[in-house]
Amino acid sequence: MNEDCGACGIHFERESGYFSMSIFIAYVMAAVISIPVMVFVYLYQLPSHWYYLAPSILIVLFIPALFRYSRIIWLYLDEWLDPRDTPI
Ligand SMILES: [Zn+2]
Repeated sequence: MNEDCGACGIHFERESGYFSMSIFIAYVMAAVISIPVMVFVYLYQLPSHWYYLAPSILIVLFIPALFRYSRIIWLYLDEWLDPRDTPI
């Protein structure tokens, strides 16, 4: 991730540990992705135990997207809750 915005030059990380909250957002996003798969695997009682690894495999595949989009969501959420003097 870039440290500063390429368009307006604003510094994304306001303080050290600024993106810690994005970990929680990524957790919620991972739950949204994996819980429907878990419910599907449980309800249909799929024959092989390998199907039960599907939610974990999905999360591993989505790690790059979860990492980036959770930070973006946190940036916009934080800007909405505590706006800066200059817009993002
Ligand atoms: Zn910008």
